[in-house]
Amino acid sequence: MGKVKTLREDVYKKIAAGEVVERPLSVVKELVENSLDAGADNIKIEISDGGKQLIKITDNGSGFDPEDIEPAFKNHSTSKISELSDFDTLTSLGFRGEALPSILEVAKIEVASSDNNDGRGLHCVFAEGEIIQKQEIAFSRGTSILVKDLFYNFPVRKKFLKAERTELNQIISFLEPVALVHYDKSFELVHNHKTVFVYQKTTSLKDRVYQVFGKDFLESLQEVDFAENNYRIGGLVSKLNTGISVKKHQYFFVNRRSIREKTLIAALNNTFEKFLERSRYPIGILTLAIPPHEVDVNIHPMKLEIKFENASAVYQAVKHGIESSFGVKEEFAADGEIIAHPGVSAAYGSRYGSPGRFPGSGYRKQEWQPGHPGLEAQEPYGDHRQTQLFSGSFPDEEDFSIIGQYKNSYILVEKNNDLLLVDQHNAQERINFDQLKKEYQEEQVVSISPLFPVIMELSPSEAAGLDDRKIELLGKIGFRLEALGGNTYDIKAFPQVLGEKNIKEAIRTVIHMNVDSKEDEADFEDQVLAEVACKSAIKVNHKLFPDQMKTIVKNLFNTGNPYFCPHKRPIIVEFTQEQIEKLLKRK
Ligand code: ADP
Ligand code: MG
Repeated sequence: MGKVKTLREDVYKKIAAGEVVERPLSVVKELVENSLDAGADNIKIEISDGGKQLIKITDNGSGFDPEDIEPAFKNHSTSKISELSDFDTLTSLGFRGEALPSILEVAKIEVASSDNNDGRGLHCVFAEGEIIQKQEIAFSRGTSILVKDLFYNFPVRKKFLKAERTELNQIISFLEPVALVHYDKSFELVHNHKTVFVYQKTTSLKDRVYQVFGKDFLESLQEVDFAENNYRIGGLVSKLNTGISVKKHQYFFVNRRSIREKTLIAALNNTFEKFLERSRYPIGILTLAIPPHEVDVNIHPMKLEIKFENASAVYQAVKHGIESSFGVKEEFAADGEIIAHPGVSAAYGSRYGSPGRFPGSGYRKQEWQPGHPGLEAQEPYGDHRQTQLFSGSFPDEEDFSIIGQYKNSYILVEKNNDLLLVDQHNAQERINFDQLKKEYQEEQVVSISPLFPVIMELSPSEAAGLDDRKIELLGKIGFRLEALGGNTYDIKAFPQVLGEKNIKEAIRTVIHMNVDSKEDEADFEDQVLAEVACKSAIKVNHKLFPDQMKTIVKNLFNTGNPYFCPHKRPIIVEFTQEQIEKLLKRK
């Protein structure tokens, strides 16, 4: 007998619904998008238990025509498109007509709505996929949809829901970018009857960024406003000499739809690459307006992804848009060197010392070029040094001498006839890390109070990310945070090794560290210590006196691993005498 059977309707409907509704976040996303599509400019989101028990979204949009409420909960019912060709002019967020029926498949729903200004509204109760109650009520124009007991009839899904806090964090992380790009609407989020945020309507993205992330954050950004071909690129990106140490805070919007898309991610990060130090990333809140027929928004069941018809043109336009905000334009000469236009050295000047330090050719990330004669086989970061490392043959003070400093960034050392190039930043990171770790293990971290009050205002998602575990760990490494109410903290003490000017950034970095993946505690602690060590380390492009260089090199050789910093980046590049002689054709 054949084995292929048609699935029962109740089974396949749940499977299909499961593609749209994965967790509370999905419900919030679909309902908020519907409110926006309905033209609302005031949206309130109330949830309980991370959305697992209850989600209620109330808007002041167009409301449902009383005749539309029931059909809207049937599969493939939408007011937004009717023909495939409608995609060419689509401006709404929804179009699949799947959200409401999918949510109804896995939860209980109540709708109150009114499409008039006379206060006449309708209240409907749905359960088991059917409408079970319908009555007229007094209601002002707009819609309120209540979703209860998510996955009450879908235990497999219910089992996979995470802790309340995690579900809530996901919802906040979704709402933040939506609130950014819809700065002209007000949003309110309430969790377990407590207000998480209220963003009043504003008139610019900048004002909304200020509301969400605060003054420090906004001050680190500059505006982008640029047009090329049919594209308009706007928003805010990091100023040249800033960036942050986590790849968070990169938001992309295409026709006001929040998405992650590889072309845009690459355009942002690649454009900044040569302007930022290693392991720092640009902040970007980038908006792209593009003719709807040039994007396919229908390639993902949750509409999280899109596809551009001409990705390379989009890439170029975004890159040029970002560059225009720097006042920098570059051309690549035939040999691949960057030729900087006059604006560039001034821009570098502020960051890398006096203008003109890097003449003509501009600054490039210093990397070992595989094309260099004689260096290919050398594997500068190869394993040979590891072997040395663990054979325990580090030189004493007498075993090395300092030759000097190259580019105010690398210390040149002669040791046992070898030439060493020591990256001063990475070296100090290793030294600080080892010191901090020792103090930490002995529970003797040296902690001091800041000279001037350090007040930190966290965004709602940052505040949510500052959980008990992180507060405890911050405490153990020498931070003392006093809550001043709301999301504001007074930093009363910090680890001495960090330095006062790095306090806020170190705390932010710890907050943004992803600890969902349940890596073991020790690893998490090491990561936090590494971040603090990194923030406190001297930067490249910093002149050192011979004594300082000597101390760094000596301390480096006394650490647990002088060859790699705690972020696993190399610290030392070595040339043997033989290699140098070969390069100079003496052998
Ligand atoms: P889609 O958004 O893809 O059209 P949905 O299932 O999300 O599909 O919604 C079905 C229809 O219900 C929408 O096309 C819209 O006409 C109506 N609708 C949904 N939410 C609202 C709302 N908050 N206000 C007014 N109309 C709504
Ligand atoms: Mg929808």
